[in-house]
Amino acid sequence: MRVAVIGAGWAGLAAAVELTGHGAAVTLFEAGRVAGGRARSVEIDGRRLDNGQHILLGAYRETLALMRKVGADPELLFERRPLQVVGPGGFRLTLPKLPAPLNVAWGLLGAAAVDLPEKLKTALWMQGIKWRGFRLTRDESVADWLDAAGQTGVLRQQLWEPLCLAALNTPAERASAQLFANVLRDSLGSSRRTDTDLLLPRVPFGELLPEPACRWLAANGATLRFGQRVRTVDAGCVDGEVFDAVIVAVAPQHLGALLPEIAADFAYEPIITVYLQVPAKTGLPFPLLHLGGNTGAWAVDRGHGLFGCAISGHGDWEALSDDALAAAMEAALGLGKADWHKVVREKRATFSCRPQQPRPDHRSADPRVFLAGDHTWADYPATLEGAVRSGLRAARAVYPASRPD
Ligand SMILES: Cc1cc2nc3c(=O)[nH]c(=O)nc-3n(C[C@H](O)[C@H](O)[C@H](O)COP(=O)(O)OP(=O)(O)OC[C@H]3O[C@@H](n4cnc5c(N)ncnc54)[C@H](O)[C@@H]3O)c2cc1C
Repeated sequence: MRVAVIGAGWAGLAAAVELTGHGAAVTLFEAGRVAGGRARSVEIDGRRLDNGQHILLGAYRETLALMRKVGADPELLFERRPLQVVGPGGFRLTLPKLPAPLNVAWGLLGAAAVDLPEKLKTALWMQGIKWRGFRLTRDESVADWLDAAGQTGVLRQQLWEPLCLAALNTPAERASAQLFANVLRDSLGSSRRTDTDLLLPRVPFGELLPEPACRWLAANGATLRFGQRVRTVDAGCVDGEVFDAVIVAVAPQHLGALLPEIAADFAYEPIITVYLQVPAKTGLPFPLLHLGGNTGAWAVDRGHGLFGCAISGHGDWEALSDDALAAAMEAALGLGKADWHKVVREKRATFSCRPQQPRPDHRSADPRVFLAGDHTWADYPATLEGAVRSGLRAARAVYPASRPD
């Protein structure tokens, strides 16, 4: 069976590996020169960095399994830490290494800078959501959902809203409460303690999946066509070349060029990553810090004085110059003057996770054409795990024999 996969982001790579592993002759088309799409390595001022600071969670099961399959060992490539949220004003929430859900209960009750009545109210609210299976009666904004639950205190400012922005890349005022609840279900609400672990990459992003996956694909007989932007997908043909099936795994903003009848109407949110190199040899006590302030940025300590500060969503900071953004992050980090900085702006980093946002299915009207990509995994916001799961699902729909028993 000849299958074309269009797009070598994490969704397309997952689909290509799954199909190749089950004997299909896969041709992977990628417009760019390298694999990885929105999560790839880039060369900046002679340094190998990423197109944007990313964080994974222990809950990214399919992503971690895919990495293992192509020979990339997550235990070596990530620094794994139990979740800790440290923010301005002395706020700190640390999950201990206790079995779930004790770890979350203990972490919440031990949170610093939150009073006991607020902790108890939040614990009851979380338990209620859990009893309802994380299903909301109607989708609304995260802000309205928190308001209705009386979540208006420190935990809202220091935990729920920052987590919403980090996970959905959409501020609470516009973000879907149901998608946020899904994220909570698979992290803080999970019965597996390690699902809440933070996985911080120790290596440039290309080394986590894109490069090992491409090596694995080439070694297993797949054809990789980089620097080749597909122009047409028509009746199983890709730019006139005939395939038995086609998986279109491009970002939503590129779908309209190939399948205009399917493309959903999305709004988009940017992510700005500010890399700073500070002379201090000492890093942060914990490698992830919520800087808060106007931008709501998160800083990741990449080691050896290098920090990646991620600013999610739209805001007036978008109009700031690179130097002004670097100065703001430098001040918020408080580790002295940076020797070097670089700002990477991804204007359409992710689709905006609005309430009741329609998402395309993985099947199209043409039985030979399937869709993958983070936007097609309707259970999640735009995430690597959603992308990988969507790729696996599309591959299994193309080639039912590849379904695990
Ligand atoms: C800065 C930034 C930070 C992020 N942080 C996180 C995070 O911390 N955690 C997390 O889980 N997620 C994060 N995300 C989201 C995550 O990166 C995406 O959800 C995921 O990479 C999407 O993968 P994808 O394969 O669906 O799409 P893409 O990565 O967009 O891949 C699509 C590929 O298709 C190719 N393509 C498009 N059109 C064509 C064509 N016509 N012909 C051939 N090829 C084509 C593109 O070049 C691209 O390589 C972040 C995203 C950004 C940008």
